[in-house]
Amino acid sequence: MAAKKLLILPGDGIGAEAMVQVRRIIDWLSKKRGIEFDISEGLIGGCAYDACGTPLPEQTLIDAMAADAVLLGAVGGPKWDDLPFDKKPERGLLGIRKEMGLFANLRPAVVFDALVDASTLKAEIVSGLDIMIVRELTGGLYFGEPRGIETLPDGSRRGVNTLVYTTEEIRRIGRVAFDLARKRNRRVCSVDKANVLECTVLWREEMIKLQQSDYPDVELTHMYVDNAAMQLVRNPKQFDVMVTENTFGDILSDCASMLTGSLGMLPSASLGAPDATGKVRALYEPIHGSAPDIAGKDIANPLATILSFAMCLRYSFDMVSEADQIEAAVRGVLKGGLRTADIMQPGKAKVSTTVMGEAIVREMDKVQA
Ligand code: NAD
Repeated sequence: MAAKKLLILPGDGIGAEAMVQVRRIIDWLSKKRGIEFDISEGLIGGCAYDACGTPLPEQTLIDAMAADAVLLGAVGGPKWDDLPFDKKPERGLLGIRKEMGLFANLRPAVVFDALVDASTLKAEIVSGLDIMIVRELTGGLYFGEPRGIETLPDGSRRGVNTLVYTTEEIRRIGRVAFDLARKRNRRVCSVDKANVLECTVLWREEMIKLQQSDYPDVELTHMYVDNAAMQLVRNPKQFDVMVTENTFGDILSDCASMLTGSLGMLPSASLGAPDATGKVRALYEPIHGSAPDIAGKDIANPLATILSFAMCLRYSFDMVSEADQIEAAVRGVLKGGLRTADIMQPGKAKVSTTVMGEAIVREMDKVQA
């Protein structure tokens, strides 16, 4: 089998520091499992601006389109804060997502047993939590037309945004959710506001049709978004996969991420449509930013980036046992009491980014044994 093409974009600040730890795992997979990736590394964000005068160099885009998956660290930092809008590091991120046509954002919220106390919710509510929020990323209220602010004849102003989805946009995000559910517990909860918004009446109807025609083996339920927000903090373990509109998903996924208690632990994936060869474009990244306040100090938590790489193995490369192994190693190291500063708890050992990375690789030997 041809080696999978992986484009690594470390980016700025702690993005680059965490990626060094992912490289350790890649080396481990090569040495211990004989798995070779066809890896290239590219520039994005502030470092790309410094080198090429743009946050998204043409070459990065060419490499991203040719890759089987892209793994990104983070972009941004105060050094680039005063650049014009189109040169800012964050434009690189928005640009690559747009060019790759990434319409589905996958945000898992998993609570590791050892970190159950890091959540602001009671342990019994979140222990063992493992849910996946699938957010539509390129349509809905954030992109609908007409939009804007206009001045009315009487001098007052009017702001407009539009919630709009087509059948095909709903069906393609539905397929992502149902396919994911098949790899998990076969349950999808579609979140809408069909009691008020016609667009989401269509959303619900299309989800039902899709489930009946293509996914009869997956259970489909529906929930209004206000209730879903409440249920996420009341009883989050009732969910397996949630699928929802762009704005609703933005809010619900942030709410769900806080169930787990730490930004430094949260991976994500963004997927596009299959191309003519069936390849699905995919970008994996931690949800945190470049953390300029701690960059360069070797104290950042690399686990969100490591877990993003595990998602890449699971969803883009079909390397399920290797993904399982990385996730088991993360659980093992946390259980053993090692913590980076952001997840430090009394009685545990505070370690650096580097030591955490080394510990994960050592643990992978044990998990394999
Ligand atoms: P941030 O996520 O970088 O940091 C928020 C806080 O969380 C900081 O105190 C930081 O130290 C801490 N933190 C984040 N990740 C951590 C980790 N892995 N380990 C330990 N602590 C961690 O968000 P911000 O401060 O709002 O933004 C900083 C820069 O990052 C900005 O330039 C912003 O535009 C950019 N940003 C980029 C992305 C991305 O690349 N996807 C996302 C968000 C923000």
